[in-house]
Amino acid sequence: MTAHHFTIDLEEYFQVSAFESRVARTEWGRFESRLVGQVALLLDLLARHEARATVFVLGWVAARQPDLIRAIAQAGHEIASHGWDHARVTHQTPLQFRTSIRRTKDVLEEISGAPVLGFRAPSFSIVPGREWALDVLIEEGYRYDSSLFPVRRPGYGYPGGSPDPHWLERPAGRIAEVPPTTLAWCGLRLPAAGGAYFRLLPYGVVQAAFRQCDRRRVPGTFYIHPWELDPDQPRLRVSWLTRVRHYGGLRGTAQRLERLLTEFRFSAIRDTVGTLSRRALAEAPW
Ligand SMILES: [Zn+2]
Repeated sequence: MTAHHFTIDLEEYFQVSAFESRVARTEWGRFESRLVGQVALLLDLLARHEARATVFVLGWVAARQPDLIRAIAQAGHEIASHGWDHARVTHQTPLQFRTSIRRTKDVLEEISGAPVLGFRAPSFSIVPGREWALDVLIEEGYRYDSSLFPVRRPGYGYPGGSPDPHWLERPAGRIAEVPPTTLAWCGLRLPAAGGAYFRLLPYGVVQAAFRQCDRRRVPGTFYIHPWELDPDQPRLRVSWLTRVRHYGGLRGTAQRLERLLTEFRFSAIRDTVGTLSRRALAEAPW
């Protein structure tokens, strides 16, 4: 049975890109953290299903709650980088991006005591034209990226990207790309990797996508945020569309995760990158 990737983007409910215009970064410190309870639920779920996860952590959170990050690492999960303050790559200069991912890697390595190998851009914001970010990742010692979502969506997506894990050859060197899972359906490629798609679409969509990965014998990549397990989080005043996307289906997330973790086997990305990194490019995809 193929081991898929279970990934968590570790950020507070008020730090998501959809709330960027409502909550300034300078105000973040005034909000109460809800991560301890949310993370405890996730760790319990993963432990009961003997699953390991890759957790992409915001540097801002790690600097304030090092014990939480240490507890996740000690439970056997991989700590990876989600950048410092959730700035999208499309809103950063190469120098700002470099500073953010270097600072985050340093803090996470000091807390967890293990090398940080992977990165996921906030809101999958490595889009066509921003590939320079991959070169910066290679130069800063990252071994894999999980930001190229091979779909066409407003504000994000990398429509030409391969749907399965693959190697990318860049001027700065080589990096593994581990894209979020999509569903091939009637000649279309639909996002089915997690998040709002997992909460709002029928469960069968995500299930079908991971079954397709099983048949191809490639690891699929699922993602979820801690706040998606927290129906009681404080509500912010936002547009109805953002309300549906952020608050829809929160009460059903835990139950759906139980089902997903029962039906499929999950591990951390470093496990597959570690076993496959010495293979020749000709053998890609893994
Ligand atoms: Zn995020």
